[in-house]
Amino acid sequence: MTSAESTKLALTIRAVVHAALRVVFEPLRIPSAEGAAIECGDKKIRVLHPGFAIASMDYEEAAVESLNRGVRARHPCGACHVETSEQHATGRHFPRRTISEMKAMLQEALAAKTLKAEKEILQKFGSYLLENAFWCLEHSNIYLALCYDILHSDDLGKLKKLFKLLKVHLNELGLGGALNEVFSTLPPYPGLKHFNSVTTIEYTDGNTMFHIMKVLKWKLDHPKRHALTHVFEDIKEKGSLINSSTRTGESMIQEIKASCYQTNGKDTDKGVGH
Ligand SMILES: [Zn+2]
Repeated sequence: MTSAESTKLALTIRAVVHAALRVVFEPLRIPSAEGAAIECGDKKIRVLHPGFAIASMDYEEAAVESLNRGVRARHPCGACHVETSEQHATGRHFPRRTISEMKAMLQEALAAKTLKAEKEILQKFGSYLLENAFWCLEHSNIYLALCYDILHSDDLGKLKKLFKLLKVHLNELGLGGALNEVFSTLPPYPGLKHFNSVTTIEYTDGNTMFHIMKVLKWKLDHPKRHALTHVFEDIKEKGSLINSSTRTGESMIQEIKASCYQTNGKDTDKGVGH
């Protein structure tokens, strides 16, 4: 797929998802602004404003929901304004996107006189020429709600891939021995495994991988690395990460899929519900 084709596909996916979300959000649009009388668990009726405080998902899904251009964009984080080359700087604070500036960006891009000017405006924000469906809900902010997810950001599968790439790279540079020396000469530390020849490890379990990654201070400009920048802010604003982890939902997807395949493909809600 050429770069133009993949951009077109990404745009189509985002247009379809946000059109669907607008339909889903429509019944919530007015109550989110004006409130709705709802009977709560304690039988008391309260005026509530439906909305969302936490949006927990993997990086690709977050890019779709925030209308971000994804990993190859100059600004690849849906939540903030970090530049690609700054993603390794996890100690730095990057300002969150705001709904008003993203709306202003869209208006500016729509009013651009040339395609080139339109593209430049969109690229400056790593976004697309689309209206975000989340904007229709009052008191909700998708950029603030996007949250550090322990399942996807700390995923061991990714660490294994990262370690494999690092070994190939170091071996090409003739530095494999140096890495082994770093690992083998580390002083013992409680709870930390010792490795004499880390570069010869081919297949290993997640726990060993976790120990290897604890030792390695890898420095990469990658969205999963950058996600760490938001972790403390997310905990302060949204509570313990266990509450926003997608781990529970992800395992449910398998069960829902299995139930769905047992239906005749029509009116699946009832079939899956049983
Ligand atoms: Zn960010």
